[in-house]
Amino acid sequence: MEYSTDTVIIGAGITGLTTAFYLNQNDQNFLVVDNRDYPGGVMHTQKCGDFVYETGPNTGVLGSLEAVKLFEQLHGEKSLTADYALEKASTAAKKRFIIKGGKPNIMPMGVGKGITTKLFTFKDKLRLLGEPFRKRGTNPNETLAQFVVRRMGQSFLDYAINPFISGVYAGDPGMLVTKYAFPKLYNLEQNYGSLIGGSMKIGKVRKKEKEQNPDLKKVTRETFSADDGLSNLAYGIYNRVGEDKFILSAQRAVVTKTESGFEISFIKKGERSTIKCRRVVNTAGAYAFADLFPFVDDEDKKVISALKYSSVVECALGFEKWQGTPLDGFGCLVPQKENRKILGVLYMSTLFKNRAPKDGALLAVFMGGMRHLDYLDLSDTEIKKIVAEELSQIYKIKEFEPEMFKIMRHHNAIPQYQADTEQRINAIEKIEKQFPGLIIGGNMIGGIGMSDRIKQGVQLAEKAKI
Ligand SMILES: Cc1cc2nc3c(=O)[nH]c(=O)nc-3n(C[C@H](O)[C@H](O)[C@H](O)COP(=O)(O)OP(=O)(O)OC[C@H]3O[C@@H](n4cnc5c(N)ncnc54)[C@H](O)[C@@H]3O)c2cc1C
Repeated sequence: MEYSTDTVIIGAGITGLTTAFYLNQNDQNFLVVDNRDYPGGVMHTQKCGDFVYETGPNTGVLGSLEAVKLFEQLHGEKSLTADYALEKASTAAKKRFIIKGGKPNIMPMGVGKGITTKLFTFKDKLRLLGEPFRKRGTNPNETLAQFVVRRMGQSFLDYAINPFISGVYAGDPGMLVTKYAFPKLYNLEQNYGSLIGGSMKIGKVRKKEKEQNPDLKKVTRETFSADDGLSNLAYGIYNRVGEDKFILSAQRAVVTKTESGFEISFIKKGERSTIKCRRVVNTAGAYAFADLFPFVDDEDKKVISALKYSSVVECALGFEKWQGTPLDGFGCLVPQKENRKILGVLYMSTLFKNRAPKDGALLAVFMGGMRHLDYLDLSDTEIKKIVAEELSQIYKIKEFEPEMFKIMRHHNAIPQYQADTEQRINAIEKIEKQFPGLIIGGNMIGGIGMSDRIKQGVQLAEKAKI
């Protein structure tokens, strides 16, 4: 097959889907190429009996206006199992737990609760009072661990930031660089000299911004999914854009530079096809870059390919009847100091409707990450044994017999923005200048959460418009 179009988007994950959505709205000519046989990338929902579980991300945060607007425009769109609707998590989501001494402790939200919690030492609580008066950091490559210990103290690192980083990045705060992994936090200190003082000042700025632009009131940081799971979000976009714009199951894609633009060749159902186009928008991860774009200078490819990704083992567990301690919250996170073998557990059936039978439970359990890179090689039996031991202890379950136990192994799960990030950003800028029409996105830059991905998808569509 030979195709010709203006723009080819590589990747039909949430980033590529968002780009496709906005190119489509602007009546642009484009095709989306992906090697999976379904749209959504790592975002994928499965059903097993009465359980509806995610095989990748479980929840997003309504943290960008771009995400809010996309969901508004999709509302009612035909999705996989129903008409698409955003589902916000139940109010229980506000309660989150951190394991300390083997038991779940409520994670304090706000300074007041931070003072009374048992998670932090008395000394660090006292130190927190001095946080607004501490000096600004001067090292742009300071790690998150160094940053937190300097401003707040070791116990805040151990029992707040370390488990949080496991939950978000499956990462290690000793390796992530604050400036790139948490730019908002870095800027708070740089711009206001203090996290506490800066948050209060930013709060006032945001209030004013919301008065001027009421749409911003919808950016709430609430937790979301879609009715019946995140695949419905993917299919909501896919159906709106139109099936004919997608070439799925496209294997071994390679882009070559031509005089008038680019040519993408790939194999589908044993046959080689090519697409001639003027622009290519890449949304595949850094791990795929060198094979996709062989014409890019070796040195630049090396910088991009050097991005480290954590690997994650994700388990979806379904219980027809839950007999452990109550699952009355978002979930629990496990600090490294606790020396346990899991990273955390999400209480999916507490957060969202119709994920498990009444009186039952659906849990998402995470293992591995940068803490235990070798866990990806564990056998199913070993993984099941670890999960059974850990959950039985934490939730006081006498007979651990889930009716559903699914195991998903994710290589290249979450990018870790470390000290080489600036070099990568520079390489991307250089490549885009050197090869006009090649637009580079994907989770190698711009944030890892779904809201960040949607925001980038909008920006990529803007760049790709004629
Ligand atoms: C296990 C896991 C849990 C997560 N949990 C959360 C969470 O709870 N909340 C949250 O906000 N974020 C979470 N994330 C992160 C978030 O899901 C991702 O950042 C986001 O979904 C990535 O979207 P994307 O479109 O950028 O990439 P992807 O979803 O990876 O899409 C890229 C697509 O490109 C395709 N592709 C790659 N190489 C090629 C090639 N050579 N040819 C053709 N196609 C190619 C891939 O198959 C894929 O379909 C999680 C991620 C993982 C892996």
